[in-house]
Parts: sequence; structure tokens; C-alpha cells
Amino acid sequence: MNTDYLIIGSGAVGMAFADTLLDQSDAHITMVDRHSKPGGHWNDAYSFVALHQPAAYYGVNSTELGSRRKDGHGPNSGMYELAGGPEINTYFDKVMEQKFLPSGRVSYHATSNYLGDGDIVSLLSGAQTRVTVRKKTVDATYFSPSVPATHTPKFTVTDGVRVVAPNALPQLWLQRAGQTVPRNFCILGAGKTAMDAGVWLLRNGATPESIQWVVPRDSWLQNRLQTQPGLEFFNDSIGGEADKMAAFAESKSIEEVFLRLESQGQMLRIDRSHSPTMFHYATISTGEVELLRTIKRVIRKGRVHAIELDAMVMDQGRIAMNPGTLYVDCTASAIGRRKAEHVFQGERILIQLLRAPLVALSAALTAYVEVHGADEAQKNQLCAPVPFPENLAGYARAMQASMMNQFQWSQDKALRQWIRNSRLDGFGKMVSDLDKGDTDRQTTMARLRTNSMAAISNMPNLMA
Ligand SMILES: Cc1cc2nc3c(=O)[nH]c(=O)nc-3n(C[C@H](O)[C@H](O)[C@H](O)COP(=O)(O)OP(=O)(O)OC[C@H]3O[C@@H](n4cnc5c(N)ncnc54)[C@H](O)[C@@H]3O)c2cc1C
Repeated sequence: MNTDYLIIGSGAVGMAFADTLLDQSDAHITMVDRHSKPGGHWNDAYSFVALHQPAAYYGVNSTELGSRRKDGHGPNSGMYELAGGPEINTYFDKVMEQKFLPSGRVSYHATSNYLGDGDIVSLLSGAQTRVTVRKKTVDATYFSPSVPATHTPKFTVTDGVRVVAPNALPQLWLQRAGQTVPRNFCILGAGKTAMDAGVWLLRNGATPESIQWVVPRDSWLQNRLQTQPGLEFFNDSIGGEADKMAAFAESKSIEEVFLRLESQGQMLRIDRSHSPTMFHYATISTGEVELLRTIKRVIRKGRVHAIELDAMVMDQGRIAMNPGTLYVDCTASAIGRRKAEHVFQGERILIQLLRAPLVALSAALTAYVEVHGADEAQKNQLCAPVPFPENLAGYARAMQASMMNQFQWSQDKALRQWIRNSRLDGFGKMVSDLDKGDTDRQTTMARLRTNSMAAISNMPNLMA
């Protein structure tokens, strides 16, 4: 088999890259994935999973996800729809079935493992295929998250204790012989998945008193209001960005940045009496935060090492627990530590984040640069990896790297135009279509530009 590009992984990243490569070139593409359908980790997600961000700018560049409606009820009320897991899976499947495969330029090896050196093995038959790559091998697995259904927990569990992934919650009504529906729940972990599990339990009738929540560390959360793509949210999105840049420009420490952003309503935390130490761009609505605040039985004793029939062994001691408690394991670390490398490495492309936190835009833009970039040096200059924050200072680092990339992109007329028209950018088209006579919004844009310059010069202090 011969191909121009061999893409390992058909998750959101591999799909977004392939989609733009198909549209911008006449290359032949071969895709390989262990999953039987495109969409990567979304195939393994709990059924009530949803995007953090509006569906309007997630997925692949060529195809809308969702219908740009706003939710009329629930915690996301008044904001653009998010798209749930099943919808995302159907979306990627349609992109593959209705665009990629009919193009005649994509070969798709599903349920297959990539072994390296062009070798693909079918997981079901063991048949091996060697692919000769004419141009490049594209690694679209760098950003792959670990999810509860497929990860291995780091704690031990005594026989008879019920520990489940959030995937099991909607099936609780379906009890095996001898089991009863649990009345006590303990959520393990403090990331967005744990928050989703808490919201699901509360919205499905569990009382706040029946829920315990192990929170090893607190997290700052982005208010979803600031991520809304429509012009009617201009003051929240672009105005919010201008205020955020002012906070970056004027604060003396990164902690002060977050506190300022909280006072401006941009950052949220569940418990105001605790200082968060992490920020992973988890995005949430104030409605969800209000619900989660009703859970008062929060356990802050570090991480769990063992779960016994009537106790948890934790970093800071042993906690007595109700026998029969259902433990919901949300400890998979969606974002593991990864070393940044060049994106373009000779015959290999390693897709990474280019504008935090827009994973899909980053992948599509990498494909655009691969086709149109002059040479490897220029391609790497346009695609400098943005380090994902591991702590609060990491937010300043990610912000600075994203802004430097944005500057590089603005110097390339054709790329600038492509970004403006890209649905994955979220705000580009709205900003470029602004009426010149709209003085209020043009003033906000000017404020954003001035504040951004000031923010960039203060970044080194905040990172220190
Ligand atoms: C609950 C949740 C919500 C999220 N919400 C958002 C959001 O709103 N917005 C956002 O931008 N991001 C969000 N993310 C982040 C998410 O990581 C990205 O959006 C994106 O889905 C990651 O896609 P990926 O292609 O990098 O990884 P994956 O989806 O994991 O895909 C990688 C694929 O590579 C395959 N693979 C790996 N190695 C091999 C091999 N050797 N051979 C064959 N196949 C291989 C795997 O089977 C997998 O299918 C969310 C993440 C989670 C967990």
C-alpha cells in the first residue's frame, strides 16, 4: 500500500488534520486507529459527557457540529449548545462516511494497531499491512486524554467495594441479582469529569447529603459565558478578553491574575474558601457551579490509596466510610505531562497545541501550514507548541505562547484569511466582520489590542 500521509489516530485531532489536508491538497491519506469508529476517546466516554465549549467551534473545519441553537433550560441555559458524546461520535462517523471515504483519497484502518515503521495490524484478524509513506507520518496521539472507562486507577480496592466509572451511572437502575441501587455516593477526583458526575447525580435525584466528594486539589474554572461565539455575547467574549489582558498586564503575581478574573466573573471556583492550585481550561457554567456547591461533604485529605469496605486510606489519614457506598472513579488524568517537541520533524509531524485550548483548530492549522508552508523552518515558526498548563503559572506560559503564534499567523496574509474563515477559530469571523461604524465594539477591539501588548510585557514576571 502506498499513501502520501499516514495518520495515526482518528480522534478529533487526526480528523481535523485530515479534513484540512483533504481540502487544501490532493494528497492520499491513510488513517489507522484501534477504535472501530472515528472520534477517539469520545467512543469510550460516559453517555452524559458533553463538550466544555460550544459545539460551534469543535470538530473539523469543513463541517458544522450541532445547529448553533441555544439551550433553553438547564445549567447551560441561554448559551450555545455543547454537543453530547453520542452526537460527537455520530458527527465524526458522518465526516468519515460522507466526506473522507467517498473522496476516494482516504483509506481507513479501524480496529487496527499501528506498530511503527508503516506497519498496521488488524486487532481482529492479526493480518498485517505495510504502508509505504510517500510524504509524512502524522502522529495524532500526542494530545490523547486518559478517560475513566479505559484507565487503570492508582488505588487498590478491597473485594466487595463497588467502584465504577461514570459510564455506569445511567445503568444504576439495572441491578444484578442481589444488588440494590446505592444510596450513598463518593466521587473520586476533582476535574471536569468529577464535576459532570456530581451534576448528573444531583440532576437525577441524588440528595447533596448522599454525596461525598474527594477533592485532592482545587481548580480554577473558566466561565463558559466568555466562550460564546455569537455577536450578542461580544461584551462577554471579546470585552472579557480585553479585561483579561488588563489583569495579565497589571497584576503582580499569577495568583492575583486569577483573583482579578474571578472578581470580573471570568474565573470560577467551587469553594471560595480554598485557593486553587491548578487550571486546565475546564469550562463550566455558573449554573453547574451553583449545583456543585450544594455538595458539602467534601474530603480534602489528598489522594486515595486504598478503598476498604468501611474506610478510605488517603494521603493524610484514614476516613471512615459507609459500607455500600458507590465510588465513582473520576481520577483519570485527562491531561498528562508531555514534553514539547518540534511539530515538523522531517518525515514526521507531531500535532500539538498551537492556541490554547483549541485542540481542533491547532490540528487543522497544522495541516494548512504543512501544505502551504515554505520549508520546515518556516512551518515550525508558524507552529510553535503551546505548553499545556500544569500549574497556575503555566496559564501565563500558555497564554504567551498562544499570543506569539497568533502574531506569527497575522504576518501571513493567506493564513490570516484562512483562520478568519475557519469555523474552528470561534471568534475570528465575528471580529473580522465587525462593522467599522460600530464605535462601541471597535473601542473594545482597540482596548483588547492595547491591553494585549501590555500583558505580553508583564508575562515574564507572572511566569517567574
Ligand atoms: C470529558 C472531556 C471533555 C472535553 N471537552 C473538550 C472541549 O470541549 N473542547 C476541546 O477542545 N477539548 C475537549 N477535550 C479535550 C480532548 O482531549 C480533545 O478535544 C480531543 O478530543 C482529543 O483528541 P485526540 O485526537 O487528541 O485524542 P483521542 O480522542 O484519544 O484520539 C487518539 C486516537 O489515537 C488512537 N491511537 C493511539 N495510539 C494508536 C496506535 N498505536 N495505533 C492505532 N491507534 C492509536 C486511539 O485509539 C485514539 O482513538 C475534552 C476531553 C475530555 C476527556
